[in-house]
Amino acid sequence: MQSDIKIQVNNTKFLFINIIILTLLAFSSAAHAVTAITADRLIDGRSAELIKNAVVLVEGDRIIAIGDRSIIPPGVEVIELGDATILPGLINAHEHPLMYSDDYQAAHLATSSAYKGLMALAGMQRLLLAGWTGVRVMGDADIYYAVQDLRRAIDAGVFIGPRITGAAHYISITGGGGDINYLSAEQSIKADGLIVDGPEEIRKAIRNEIKYGSDWIKLLVTGAFQSVGDNPRNIAFSPEELKAAVEEANRHGVPVAAHAHATEGIKQAVAAGVRSIEHGTYIDDEAIKMMVKQGTYLIPTVYMGDYYAQGDKLRAQDKNDDYMTHGRGEFLSAIGRAHKAGVKVVVGLDLGAGSVDPSVYVREMAMFVEAGISPMDAIQAGTRVAAELLGWDDRLGIIETGMLADIIAVPGNPLTDMSALERVSMVMIGGKLIKRPGQPSSLAGLLPASGE
Ligand SMILES: [Zn+2]
Repeated sequence: MQSDIKIQVNNTKFLFINIIILTLLAFSSAAHAVTAITADRLIDGRSAELIKNAVVLVEGDRIIAIGDRSIIPPGVEVIELGDATILPGLINAHEHPLMYSDDYQAAHLATSSAYKGLMALAGMQRLLLAGWTGVRVMGDADIYYAVQDLRRAIDAGVFIGPRITGAAHYISITGGGGDINYLSAEQSIKADGLIVDGPEEIRKAIRNEIKYGSDWIKLLVTGAFQSVGDNPRNIAFSPEELKAAVEEANRHGVPVAAHAHATEGIKQAVAAGVRSIEHGTYIDDEAIKMMVKQGTYLIPTVYMGDYYAQGDKLRAQDKNDDYMTHGRGEFLSAIGRAHKAGVKVVVGLDLGAGSVDPSVYVREMAMFVEAGISPMDAIQAGTRVAAELLGWDDRLGIIETGMLADIIAVPGNPLTDMSALERVSMVMIGGKLIKRPGQPSSLAGLLPASGE
């Protein structure tokens, strides 16, 4: 078989790759078709430089080779993208699939878990078609576990959707960002968040979260921006509560994500050993230093402020307006300093794909560039670094041989025009092509139709 190789380049590296590919094809037991994707440019998620005239070969759900046109085996399907850039599928590390309305607390009270789950499925599929192949759920507005059901149905192949990991609920103190604080004390309601007070209630809540399928724990360590009646500059949990939470979650091997805006809240969460700080709006240089030392990830969700500045979308619009006037510039500068100092900054949106046009999600990366991060690093923050945060980096986040084939493409070059990311032209997840130029997208599930 190897003697049939036509050497089209005098490059021993490609000859070597050819031999490997043909050997792989010869010994592959599964009869999966091979697909070749070609484009003028490739961003592989790891290299600092863009790779020109790239070919990616996919077989089954895996990437089997990357090279130039000489690696394309005869007779395989070739997707010619031309003046486009191939990238790893994007990962959104901070999503609330069940929030299908900007006024999410009212929506929580008005609709059932099942309805939210259906809205979430639609939102997640829209997100996938916009290039987001992985999602970390940072708790959601639900009494039950619709996010876990959504994930189970996608994992089972009943529906096509992004890969999902994360927490079922956000855990909040009484009166905190996960509580509903605008109704009278006479009203007996169940809040959107999971309300706990004291280390023992936290432990119990965490055990329940894990019992029902959360593989992250989400804590509202400080007040929030979008909720009514609390203050993002205030710390919610006590150091004792934080310590109990991290200790309990870690004992089960589950990482903790801390929603934290207040400077001191960020520091207390980092000191307690959380894996990630969500938002970090009032982060200072001391907190940055602590995060570098501990390897804590930062998911700034910075585009959210700009999104909510357009129109009067929030019940607590005054908090966002105050941030836009007094906090935005400093926050952008701090994100740039954190990245430069070595904090692993990751893309997360915090918008709710059920309520927002997902093409705007990539503006988080454009804002990283505004914060002084290079376009390449901004893209890696939504691919490779995000996969590292999620513990997916052995199979996702980069385009390399052996990785799962979550691959997207955009027209032009996103390094010179970040808005190219808003025009995703091809989406492949696990080797399944669901969107390609010039053809209708396909979200058909993997299960056979009944009767087949
Ligand atoms: Zn959030």
